[in-house]
Amino acid sequence: MTVRLDEKLEPIYQDVLRRNPGENEFHQAVHEVLETLGPVLVKYPELAEHKVIQRICEPERQIIFRVPWQDDQGEIHINRAFRVEFNSALGPYKGGMRFHPSVYLGIIKFLGFEQIFKNALTDLPIGGGKGGSDFDPKGKSDDEIMRFCQSLMTELYRHLGEYTDVPAGDIGVGQREVGYLFGQYKRITNRYESGVFTGKGLDWGGSRARKEATGYGTVFFVQEMLKARKESLEGKTCIVSGSGNVAIYAIEKAEQLGAKVIACSDSSGIIVDEKGIDLKLVKRIKEVERRRISAYAEERKGAKYVEDGNIWGVPCDVALPCATQNELNGKDAKKLVEQGCTTVAEGANMPCTPEAIRVFQDASIAYGPGKAANAGGVATSALEMQQNASRDFWTFQYTEKRLEEIMVNIHRNCYETADEFGAPGNYVVGANITGFLKVSKAMVAMGLI
Ligand code: GLU
Repeated sequence: MTVRLDEKLEPIYQDVLRRNPGENEFHQAVHEVLETLGPVLVKYPELAEHKVIQRICEPERQIIFRVPWQDDQGEIHINRAFRVEFNSALGPYKGGMRFHPSVYLGIIKFLGFEQIFKNALTDLPIGGGKGGSDFDPKGKSDDEIMRFCQSLMTELYRHLGEYTDVPAGDIGVGQREVGYLFGQYKRITNRYESGVFTGKGLDWGGSRARKEATGYGTVFFVQEMLKARKESLEGKTCIVSGSGNVAIYAIEKAEQLGAKVIACSDSSGIIVDEKGIDLKLVKRIKEVERRRISAYAEERKGAKYVEDGNIWGVPCDVALPCATQNELNGKDAKKLVEQGCTTVAEGANMPCTPEAIRVFQDASIAYGPGKAANAGGVATSALEMQQNASRDFWTFQYTEKRLEEIMVNIHRNCYETADEFGAPGNYVVGANITGFLKVSKAMVAMGLI
């Protein structure tokens, strides 16, 4: 059931539905933002006159293209790839590439739309975009991944540039894929344009702490939400869904800050380890061996693996959804709250359904939406661009410090904006309005574009 919007906003939403049929995730992301913008139009009526919301909901440019490639047996496969260049009011389009069989235009548009506000929240000069393909990297050889990436970049390169559009990784795209993509870009353009891609390897223009940044940033955000409630992570029990890049580094930072993480997962099942997750083992299984998380329970005494298990049934103080969109529904949220969970922060993009968010808000628990809580990844990408532009390479400590300051700043801005708009403690209101105002003011200043 969707909540009806403000009378000025409902027609805008209906138009989005009509113009983008079948793109459910995109509809959901737009609705979630529009729900919070009523009071903004009252305070800034000129934004309605300039039709800023209607303009923001329409991507500046959408690219859809064919990616043909050959597998190791010589068989030909055809995938579809996307790059949605959503908004460049604050800087070049910025956002990752996702390789997953579920990818279609509606997913890339929801991600690109969220990216606009998330990137604005970082206070760094980056616009919003996103891309990806329905290619499934699971079970593919290294050579197949390389051929796919090269084929994709053979088309995409013409749309990119350090001042135009700067992709990075997302689900299914890590340093290996970024390497193949960047390599092909360099070859075609004959330019060593480091700033055209982020998430690069440390030997060839990457930033220290970029790999850790999304997960670390989410936990820094949790720390700030807890501080605002005069609490800390020390001694708290956490559960983290997923076991990819975001989840691994969320677990690492949570453990460093004194929490005990007892569960994580992948798309096949969950592991519960009451002694606390052995992160070294997770890293070996996932980052080196690229195996399923079930291998953890085979190697670690006392840990249990539940195939198709629901991680949100594990009692905890802090829950960090770090896997994928709509992975935590209203029922899960009720269960979490009933079992004593007081804090939720989204390491993934839109992992909580609208029903789940309502449950958290009704229970007045601390809930950090992804636009704010997982902005550390893209913020550190912007720091990577800064290093590339000045041909510099910062230390881990310095980069992590910058990341922490950015997360503290995002938290403070969201917190204060929520207060200002009469919704104290509501980080959804805080994040949406802060991001929206920044982008809209830039758009108005630049005329009708
Ligand atoms: N894919 C990440 C996100 O959802 C990072 C994007 C980037 O670094 O450009 O924000």
